[in-house]
Amino acid sequence: MNNRKRPKLEIRETRKYGKGVFAAEDIEKGRIVWVLDGERMDALDLVERVNGDAENINDPLQIGKRTYIDLDEFSRTFNHSCDPSTGIRKTSEMFALRDIKKGEELTFDYSATIAPTEWKMRCKCGSRNCRGILGDVLSVPREQLDYYKRHGALQKYMKAILTDVEAGRYEIPKYELAALAKLKRTSEEFP
Ligand SMILES: [Zn+2]
Repeated sequence: MNNRKRPKLEIRETRKYGKGVFAAEDIEKGRIVWVLDGERMDALDLVERVNGDAENINDPLQIGKRTYIDLDEFSRTFNHSCDPSTGIRKTSEMFALRDIKKGEELTFDYSATIAPTEWKMRCKCGSRNCRGILGDVLSVPREQLDYYKRHGALQKYMKAILTDVEAGRYEIPKYELAALAKLKRTSEEFP
């Protein structure tokens, strides 16, 4: 992964939810901000790690129908926003959805990266259009999903899944349902 020649970024405390990543220079719309990276794993590895407390369920990024990235320390510092400044395209390329000013937080819409499943997370992003509870890609309001589509802010695997959903032929894979059933529920997780 080539993260050289990327805009300067910095990690800082946010007022709302721990650390976040911020622009240390102005970033023009469309520019690559970062390539999210980490170790590849499949859904069953993911469940094992979460159950073994080695991983927080909210950290890995899905990049394929069965493939996830165990995000590295830096990549997992980007927070979610319901009104994100960046989008994710290709496999895991993060780019500016609009012009971003120096000092602004770099966020993406976690839901837009999550294939249909039963995942839920409480959101405290504080944006005007905050959805309150985050779910998978199908929980993103239609208008906003169309906005991501128009701006190319969907991963390759997700575009394929949405095509299947629209054609009425998408089902949550059996292996994933089995994996979800094995998942230990924690108090932090939304019921
Ligand atoms: Zn929100």
